[in-house]
Amino acid sequence: MARYTEALCKLCRREGMKLYLKGDRCTSEKCPFDKRPFAPGQHGREKKKLTQYGLQLRAKQTMKRIYGILEKQFRIYYERAAKQSGDTRENLVAQVERRLDNVVYRLGFAINRRTARQLVTHGHILVNGKKVDIPSYQVRPGDVISIKEKSRSIEPVKQAIELNKGRAISAWLEADYDNYKGVYVRNPKLEEVIDLPVNVQAIVEFYSR
Ligand code: SF4
Repeated sequence: MARYTEALCKLCRREGMKLYLKGDRCTSEKCPFDKRPFAPGQHGREKKKLTQYGLQLRAKQTMKRIYGILEKQFRIYYERAAKQSGDTRENLVAQVERRLDNVVYRLGFAINRRTARQLVTHGHILVNGKKVDIPSYQVRPGDVISIKEKSRSIEPVKQAIELNKGRAISAWLEADYDNYKGVYVRNPKLEEVIDLPVNVQAIVEFYSR
């Protein structure tokens, strides 16, 4: 299964912003971006003025990197979003938000999306009571996501629930930590996804050139 293998912190430095790909490390003093907030490589410190195309490209790359999605899959999401009725930007955000790995992360069952992806591929996650091990699986409104009974005591799950219990979760989800489950209630509205530091309109423009 294809996935990013590049060092995650380099991705933040490349995009010139913290993408919060590593959970609590990102808000600690160990975050490398705080020490070196410039792109990796010999010319990383040089400030370049981006063209409109460059801005669109960076917006797309940033969103892909935040959700851990490769180009082919991301383009498919865009094409589906553009075909749907309504706001293409909102449709695109809903496509990526509905990924099972993302929902597991948003529910607080994993400290970051990469760990959430592992929980899914290793068969620890159930959707409506049935094992689903495909990270890109599209969750639907009303679906119940839970952690398999035997997997509730594994370290990544214990660590995440300890950290997230009591924290507010996204408005379109409901979490029940005592029973290791949550519900994907509805698709999010664009303005509700407040931790997405990306101009989604620029991505739509990139693909519709
Ligand atoms: Fe990015 Fe987190 Fe690494 Fe900091 S610790 S550079 S925010 S992934």
